[in-house]
Amino acid sequence: MIDLLAIAAHRDDVELTCGGTLIKATKRGQKTAILDLTQGETGTRGSAQTRATEASRAAEVLGVEARENLSLPDSGIVNDPTTREVVARAIRRFRPTIVIAPALEGRHPDHRVTAQLVRDACFVAGLAKVATDVPKFRPRKVVHCLTYRQDFLRPTFVVDITDEFEQKLQAVRCYESQFDGAMQAGEVYPNGEPLEDVIRHYAAYYGTLIRRQYGEPYFTTETMRVDDIATLEVSTF
Ligand SMILES: [Zn+2]
Repeated sequence: MIDLLAIAAHRDDVELTCGGTLIKATKRGQKTAILDLTQGETGTRGSAQTRATEASRAAEVLGVEARENLSLPDSGIVNDPTTREVVARAIRRFRPTIVIAPALEGRHPDHRVTAQLVRDACFVAGLAKVATDVPKFRPRKVVHCLTYRQDFLRPTFVVDITDEFEQKLQAVRCYESQFDGAMQAGEVYPNGEPLEDVIRHYAAYYGTLIRRQYGEPYFTTETMRVDDIATLEVSTF
């Protein structure tokens, strides 16, 4: 059983979008894991082999229990019954309580397709008559990373990663083939600054939404429940 499973299209997506959240969960003693769907073979920079080495170094920095790769076609991820079953089997292996998926919108088609694919695969994983050789399992919840998205969708919640931010950057730095001297990556649009500065500014922006230094934003299709309204955090003024 895994508490938190982050599923993403490409190696390094997880570090950029929810690395701080994974580090924070690990520090709490929760079990975390990463499932990368492709090997990044069509990426402009670095070979798939280099990225594999970088990804395992980054996994160590994040403190995850396991990192698997499904070797789906890079830039060609589809959400069809065959692929849903492949992803559902992986979900049944990990048995996560919460799954972190990409944002429902995305600049890269793989990101957008992966978001829906992950939701559908979580559902399919709970169907007893699909892949009958592995026991069925359905995660409780799927949350979507919103970091770097410019849809101006208000996050459902922001995770405070003030104490985890530098370690998140350390995980991103493991991808030298991708980011050494880079100004742009994944969903991050370039603004003329080094990539690390852009990542810091985004994290600081999401931090201000919860009156903290750094944050990572998430969207859920469900409403969050509150039991004690008197303990609500984040000051209005
Ligand atoms: Zn990506």
